[in-house]
Amino acid sequence: MSTPRRVAWPILLVLMSAIADVVMVDQYYQLATETSRFLTLLVGTTITLMTLAISACIRRVDLRNALGSTSLGISIVLWCWLILLPRTPLHLYTTTPVVILFLATAILSTTYICKLLLKQPSTQWLKALTLSSIGFVFSQPLLADLNSKSYQWPARKELSGNLNLVVAPKNGRTATVFLLLDELNGSAAQPFVNELRQLGMEVSVQQLVPIALATSKVVPTMWTGLEFSSARPCSFTAICSGTHVLDFAKVTASRPDVDVVGFYHPYCAMRGLRYCQRPPSVKVLRNPERWICAVTKAFASAQRTSCNTQHHDAWAQFRQSIDQAIWAAPIWQQGGLLYAHVPLPHPPGDSKEDSLSLEYENNLNQAHNLVTKIANRLIEGRFDAVTFVIFSDHPLRRSLWCDNGSYSTRACKSENRNQEKTVPLISATLPFSPGHFEAMQGNEDIFSLTRSSNHVQ
Ligand SMILES: [Zn+2]
Repeated sequence: MSTPRRVAWPILLVLMSAIADVVMVDQYYQLATETSRFLTLLVGTTITLMTLAISACIRRVDLRNALGSTSLGISIVLWCWLILLPRTPLHLYTTTPVVILFLATAILSTTYICKLLLKQPSTQWLKALTLSSIGFVFSQPLLADLNSKSYQWPARKELSGNLNLVVAPKNGRTATVFLLLDELNGSAAQPFVNELRQLGMEVSVQQLVPIALATSKVVPTMWTGLEFSSARPCSFTAICSGTHVLDFAKVTASRPDVDVVGFYHPYCAMRGLRYCQRPPSVKVLRNPERWICAVTKAFASAQRTSCNTQHHDAWAQFRQSIDQAIWAAPIWQQGGLLYAHVPLPHPPGDSKEDSLSLEYENNLNQAHNLVTKIANRLIEGRFDAVTFVIFSDHPLRRSLWCDNGSYSTRACKSENRNQEKTVPLISATLPFSPGHFEAMQGNEDIFSLTRSSNHVQ
């Protein structure tokens, strides 16, 4: 059998397993995070299949076999590139020519090895290659399902150390709000504290060291207490890091009055929630504008103006949906517990300002308005006890935003601010004291603050 015919099926199956993986990760985050992987996959698949088609049409045997080996080589490198390498764009660490050189070397050497192996009569290695690529992708949800434990959330966890946590009255109508302001700097806490005190709430504030600098790593730890340093979605509802698995579909609310509004993680897969909203964001596959912008971003250093406008508009709209979902939650009438994960002050801003600092500042103002509005609603709700916890997963990741093409790198870096090291934990209560939690160092045990309010039913 000629090389192109021998490699056709293995190539198709390897490519299909790569597509399945990208779709799975996209479905987990639902935040257009996979645009560049989709684009790489599209370009890589087109080149692979074209090379394969050309090789099948060529009469010269040596050239036909060489092109057949090349198409197999490209598909293997593409699979490894998309699935095995970390999802952080390599250009954050090195320059584009180095990435191209690395890719070219990888393709050439893989092609050479394939060509040597294809001279052998045995095709066992082709079967092994196909099975391992499919097995790797499809074993992820299977292993996640086998490894995942059931969790109660918010956890009724006892903390060690000298913690004097929130002590709420044991009876009556209570309201507890956990507001995760994504990417909130520790130094940005004071205006929030001042505002809450002005509204007459008792406020405690503490600086915490984030356990990681990514939402994908921090939130699963808050849920499970386990480390998720190499977090990666492993099914539509589960995220894995080594042997640690958090499957949101196996999390049950520990009380009957939990409302959730959030994004990025599949929070609404949790069971026993009274209310849950995960507003839809831009879908990669259904948005042609997003594709065009991804292409221009990949090949041009400066983004098109319309792409910037479209990008900022999409985030503004997304934030509006989150805001609407928060105000539709039953907590405001019935009391209970609300967890809201909000893309504020997370960049980008609602409008393009050409400055990361300025957009962050605008988003901080929006976060401030939201906090004021929530505090007012909690006070006006005439609850017997109110607890309002404001916290964050990580501070502003300046180098990530300056290097990912969203802002002009030079202008971004000339703003010359250092990476912040802490995130705030603000606890505002009424009518009792918020307590002290100086012993809390990291932000992984945030939900243990509900310990006492769990007793309130
Ligand atoms: Zn985050």
